Amino acid sequence: MNKRFLILIFGAFFLQEQVADIKLPQNFSTIVEKLIFFKKNNFKVFYGGPIGGSDKGVKWVMPVAFEDELHKTTRAVYEIAFVNCNFDTADGAEIMFVDICDIDIKFKNMFSPDYASFASLLRGEYIHEKYIVVRRADVAHIYYPDIFISADHSPHVEDKSQIIHFLHENFKTKNCSKDCNTSLREKQVIAYENDFEISYVPLKVQTNFHGEAHQFFITKKVRKNDIWKLYYIISRDENVLTNSAALSEGLLLRLDSGCVSGQIYNDSACDCLDQLHSALHALTESPSAGIIVHIPAHDGRGFGTAPKAETEIYKIGGKGRLHTTAPLDTVQAAQLLYGCSDFDIRTFDGAAQMCVDANIKKVILLTDNKQKVQALKDAGIEVLRQKTDTVKEACSHHIQAKKNSPYYYNDETNQI
Ligand SMILES: [Zn+2]
Repeated sequence: MNKRFLILIFGAFFLQEQVADIKLPQNFSTIVEKLIFFKKNNFKVFYGGPIGGSDKGVKWVMPVAFEDELHKTTRAVYEIAFVNCNFDTADGAEIMFVDICDIDIKFKNMFSPDYASFASLLRGEYIHEKYIVVRRADVAHIYYPDIFISADHSPHVEDKSQIIHFLHENFKTKNCSKDCNTSLREKQVIAYENDFEISYVPLKVQTNFHGEAHQFFITKKVRKNDIWKLYYIISRDENVLTNSAALSEGLLLRLDSGCVSGQIYNDSACDCLDQLHSALHALTESPSAGIIVHIPAHDGRGFGTAPKAETEIYKIGGKGRLHTTAPLDTVQAAQLLYGCSDFDIRTFDGAAQMCVDANIKKVILLTDNKQKVQALKDAGIEVLRQKTDTVKEACSHHIQAKKNSPYYYNDETNQI
């Protein structure tokens, strides 16, 4: 093989890594435009979608974006959660701003006073009959490809006054109480930065997971050439990625897609929270070392929080911003919104490349998703598979619809 040919091959490989292989529906930007509820200058509120659960608690969540000068939804992102009311019954509701980071909520860590009070707010236990909780996200993906990442999750004063004004004008909310809590989270420190990534010093999280005290480490990595940009590596052992025996003998691995409605607001309509917690449980039980690679920007199977919220309306059945329909399953709902058969634009080659960069040679992958297996194999990693066993009665229909699609294994074995 001559040198020129080798350069060509490496050139093509490099290009492939840089260019996103994402086929968006042709009219995706028109769809996103129609999901906007209110727009003024760089302030955009999306219609959002319902949150299923018990009679009390969060009923609806609207994503809010403050755009940058290029009109990308990347300056600041907030979520407006209507508690014990819907947006058409919110008159008189009190507004509260909370300050709590995404990952604390996703762990459901009752050892964290911030989370304990946030959880009680979401359950609808505040003294007022109905109220609105506004949270600033530290990572958000309202629609593809704009991904917002911030090191800070405190609400900004100017943003707050704009959101309060918007709520008063549109939903007859009556007042705003003082901020509910202030996060005491330690500041994130960069461990190293190179051409490909910024890697942060692992954060230790003590949690009362599954009724027992456990300790996890969370390493945040911002991948500079990756379309999903941010990855959290969750492990029990702070030094798991320097354990060469574990990396070559078979690391338990879960590639976990983020979900705002399920993992932050406890929506009963999907099993994303259960999948994450089942993987955390697997880490605590596994005799071999393991990691979860959590990918927040994969929300809505990569399309983002706002379009995904619209599909949640179609799943219940009723009138959304674009369509009115009888109840659909999760796949049909996405196909109706996007007008095409492809309901999943997530890619896993970035996560696989990160595993390669971390010298991972062999994994036992917790998954039912064929694409995750393929991405790791394509990256040269040896893959054994362990099927997932999430059982959630409230959304068994949702789980089955996924498994019936060509992307998923639909049998009771661990075969690939
Ligand atoms: Zn979900």
